[in-house]
Amino acid sequence: MKCYAFLGIQGSGKGTQADKLSSFLGFKHINIGDLLRINIKLQTPIGIEANKIIQKGELVSDEMVFSLIDATTGITEKGIIFDGFPRTIAQAENLLNEYNLLQVFYLDLNEQSAIERISARRICPNCHENYNMFSQPPIVIGFCDKCNIRLEIRQDDKPNAMHKRFEQFYNQTQPLTKLFESHGLLTVVNASQPVENIFEQILAVIKRFDNE
Ligand code: AMP
Repeated sequence: MKCYAFLGIQGSGKGTQADKLSSFLGFKHINIGDLLRINIKLQTPIGIEANKIIQKGELVSDEMVFSLIDATTGITEKGIIFDGFPRTIAQAENLLNEYNLLQVFYLDLNEQSAIERISARRICPNCHENYNMFSQPPIVIGFCDKCNIRLEIRQDDKPNAMHKRFEQFYNQTQPLTKLFESHGLLTVVNASQPVENIFEQILAVIKRFDNE
């Protein structure tokens, strides 16, 4: 199965770019964090276990991640856009061994900018739509455009959990860029640019794979 993956620190805009690319290519967008939040809301066994881990800002197990991916992908998929996967070496090896990985986009953003973006992030507890109070505000401040429910700060966007997540990112995820680079599969994009400029650079890269 063809796929692209997005790596980057929290707040680097992986979700936004993955969403745009999946619409453009007609590929399925898989965001593990969103799948976990749906499970938490539905209080499934996975959700109950994941909730405690996520609130502490830690990573859930590789096995849990693989089973979520298996449960959401089918053979009829045209391709997959992974967003926030891989985050560990075992996940990176799974991606290299089990998929036709065309390219990994590393959205490069410094920590200070990431903190500013995350602090402005809000989520609808009902439909999980993401907002940013500066760059993507809701029509009525503080309320979801679709559900009219009060927006919340994600538990794991609160300072303690956020710093733990940064630590995980630097220790486990950022080093994966070297692995993908050694396979000739890495594109680094400056994530402090406007959304459309970033997307143009991504499109310029994926044109190479039109016929694959
Ligand atoms: P995110 O919305 O991508 O920031 O993910 C929220 C949380 O879900 C993370 O802090 C982790 O606890 C968990 N998570 C998301 N993706 C992964 C992954 N690939 N591996 C392990 N845990 C993950």
